[in-house]
Amino acid sequence: MLDRSEEREEPQLGDRKFRVFATCAIGPSIDLLRSRGYEVEVYPGPLAPPRELLLQKVSSGIDGLITTLRDRIDDEVFRAGKDTLKGIAQFAVGYDNINRADATLYKIPFSNTADVLTDATAEFAFAILLDVSRKLWSSERLVRENHWEYWHPYLPFLGDEVTGKTIAVIGTGRIGQALISKCSGFDVNVLCYDAEYRNEKFVASIQQTMNLKRELGLTRRQSWIRYAELDECLHEADYVSLHVPLLREGESKVPTFHLINELRLRQMKPTAYLINTSRGPVVDENALAKALREHRIAGAALDVFEREPLPADSPLRDPTIEDRCRLFHHFSSGGQATRLSPDPNVGMAGRCVQALIDMLEGADCAKMPYVVNKEAFLP
Ligand code: NAD
Repeated sequence: MLDRSEEREEPQLGDRKFRVFATCAIGPSIDLLRSRGYEVEVYPGPLAPPRELLLQKVSSGIDGLITTLRDRIDDEVFRAGKDTLKGIAQFAVGYDNINRADATLYKIPFSNTADVLTDATAEFAFAILLDVSRKLWSSERLVRENHWEYWHPYLPFLGDEVTGKTIAVIGTGRIGQALISKCSGFDVNVLCYDAEYRNEKFVASIQQTMNLKRELGLTRRQSWIRYAELDECLHEADYVSLHVPLLREGESKVPTFHLINELRLRQMKPTAYLINTSRGPVVDENALAKALREHRIAGAALDVFEREPLPADSPLRDPTIEDRCRLFHHFSSGGQATRLSPDPNVGMAGRCVQALIDMLEGADCAKMPYVVNKEAFLP
């Protein structure tokens, strides 16, 4: 990683300055590039730029591109930038909008914002799990709409306690593990599933923490954690929380597109909840809406959708399921510091900027910490 505070001459590419196009504003961190002499253009307004404009900018010879998950970065874009584009900094950890095989083919590095949004996303997943389970939205709405007319032992509704229940974490990478670490404080049991690898050391450490809590008298519950197969997770869990990348057919031996479909929803307990903060297409939304309508699961809390923003005619907006279907605007990483901090160890913005500096001014992409497709640059 290059030292940003280093006193240096303005980085130049031959006889010209580096040129960067950002498809979206990322806050004041972008000025760091300007202070290094870069020419930076930021697409104004909250929407993504039209496809033609993106292609036009890339083919105009920009050196760096800042993207969000709304921009489709495929063969056409890489071709447009094949002789000039030196790096793409994605403002997200997920990069299912970027065709990795094409990036690698054209030897154009791209980076993501892994790690800096792990805690924010994990705590949001747990927050919406609590929301749907304890009916926080229904409770607040009751008060706000002035329908709270009495206190009663069980009317107008009750929620489900989380303490002592079993959570299945599907995908035990960065965010999955952070969720486990956070929610183990709630004395829950944890079933882990991951298609690629098992972090037994992490699981043993969490189990030790659970044991210690009991031994020290901090809880009377003995909680447990273990890996299991997906079928067992779905059959046994009270909460199923998804933390996998979106991988379509051909992108992985175990794709995650519609991982949760009609069949898998039928495997869940009628008292169980589904939490999705990963990517929308990991869940078949029609099947989920049907399962909720038919009370085949107790509820769902969703931060991501097959189409975003959620269309007006989405079956998930069905008023008959609104009390058990919580919907959020792809907001899991939406904490101030997580989104905007210029520190590359804290904020997505800082990490994007540092990644671009690395890719444009550095020499060896294979050694750059934030570059995803390092395989393209291995000797
Ligand atoms: P990660 O790569 O550290 O973890 C993903 C895990 O999923 C890996 O351990 C991988 O082995 C596992 N996996 C892959 N295919 C699987 C399958 N078929 N079944 C089970 N497990 C599988 O990634 P991360 O940093 O934890 O992020 C996970 C995903 O969360 C991102 O790819 C992104 O799409 C999503 N995300 C969403 C938000 C949001 O705002 N809602 C924020 C951050 C991340």
